[in-house]
Amino acid sequence: MKNQEHILIIGAGLCGSLLALRMAQRGYRVTLMEKRPDLRKEVIDSGRSINLAFSDRGMKGLRLAGLEEKVLPLCIPMRGRMIHSADGQLFMSPYSGRSYEYINSISREDLNVMLLDECEKMPEITMLFNQRCTGVTLETAEATFEDYHTKEIKSYQADVVMGADGVGSALRKSMLDHRKFLFSYGQDFLTHGYKELSFPPLGNGGYQVEKNALHIWPRGKDMMIALPNLDGSFTVTLFLSWEEGKDSFESLNSDAAVTDYFEREFPDALALMPDLLEEFKTNPTSPLGTIKCSPWHAYGKVLLLGDAAHGIVPFYGQGMNSAFEDIFVLDRYIDKHEGDWKAIFKAYQDERKEDTDAIADLAVDNFHEMKAHTARPIFQEKRKLEIAFEEQFPKEYFSKYSLVTFREDLRYSEAMRRGRVQDKAILNLIHDGKFTDAMSLHDKLDLVKQETRKMLHDDEVVE
Ligand code: FAD
Repeated sequence: MKNQEHILIIGAGLCGSLLALRMAQRGYRVTLMEKRPDLRKEVIDSGRSINLAFSDRGMKGLRLAGLEEKVLPLCIPMRGRMIHSADGQLFMSPYSGRSYEYINSISREDLNVMLLDECEKMPEITMLFNQRCTGVTLETAEATFEDYHTKEIKSYQADVVMGADGVGSALRKSMLDHRKFLFSYGQDFLTHGYKELSFPPLGNGGYQVEKNALHIWPRGKDMMIALPNLDGSFTVTLFLSWEEGKDSFESLNSDAAVTDYFEREFPDALALMPDLLEEFKTNPTSPLGTIKCSPWHAYGKVLLLGDAAHGIVPFYGQGMNSAFEDIFVLDRYIDKHEGDWKAIFKAYQDERKEDTDAIADLAVDNFHEMKAHTARPIFQEKRKLEIAFEEQFPKEYFSKYSLVTFREDLRYSEAMRRGRVQDKAILNLIHDGKFTDAMSLHDKLDLVKQETRKMLHDDEVVE
């Protein structure tokens, strides 16, 4: 199919490059504009995380574009959370009782390079780098860019402009400044920031700790995590308060303070981090926040997608995954209303906003769960029971984590609604001592279903 309409996409990050590819596959003429240099030709610091947890909803987006086989070699399966307790004990908490359900660690750069290479193969796509969008005229879909080298300002006319330009979106700013319709915008920062560190590979390219896990050091107020890379290294992320409390990025202001903190909180990890002090000084400390805004579209001419529309904190590992799922959902509405961008954008936002609001809220909940609850006995008992349910009754039980991460057929909003109630039901039952040794596992599951059903106020259970 040839479609001569011209779509201009701002941002050739993860969302923008997959979006460009899919729109070109549909036959549109696409211009993909990126403010940074081409990362396939120059080493650039993206300023974002080095690796990411990639899971089923993200795969749904890649599958739509025919890239499932291409992405698999970039993936390292992570089958569960390896919890490093304060007393040095290790505890593996699987992500699911179904052995085929796991998440993957993937390099942001490798994934972005693969997507750009695929875009390069499409004659419908023109890619321009070092072009920073400075604003968009919403009514006419005209976007203005400044060339990084020459500083030349140039305008591009399109039929539609799609903003996949991340949390600092220039398109979103143009919508905020427009003042001819009501534009709601909110940004909530966490009191914690993050800093990336690393475990180097072993001399033979092996891994210093278990490769197929997402490692977590939950310490109540703070948390550290580590995800494996293909070269045997791990990218380690410390989540710590900016300035509040005894330990904060502000108080860790000397080698001695950093060493003392790691000796107290993460002694097993410290032993694996020969470059800690250098990395701590050199690597940036960055903020974490949630961005919600509405509407995502205007005049049937512009649309926000990915982080530009909904920036979320990284604790469910769903930011990129939800951005890829955005493309899947948008594609469905293009099928339904092709030729009428206003109708496409409206229907898309009507469905999608509720879901990205849900994952934004779940991600903040998971911050508290990961840094504090994963270390608590009642949480660990709940997870053991849930894993047993999923192993023994794989078609009957899905934990909240499974609903959000592996049930790509279920909307985030529905996963949140069912998952939250179910969590509450199990925790109440454990707390009230309702599970007895005499009960079979299926009796316990029936009890959870009954309690969940009561709390959902209808007879729907998770199926
Ligand atoms: P971005 O990746 O930010 O890409 C935007 C692109 O637009 C960039 O290339 C940028 O250079 C370009 N751009 C920006 N402004 C302009 C402009 N004015 N003109 C032209 N181009 C512009 N998600 C997961 O799914 N799993 C995880 O495990 C995970 N971990 C994370 C860990 C951390 C610490 C952080 C911060 C995020 C994490 N995320 C994770 C979220 C994920 O990084 C984002 O959701 C994802 O990158 C969104 O993709 P995007 O293309 O919308 O935005």
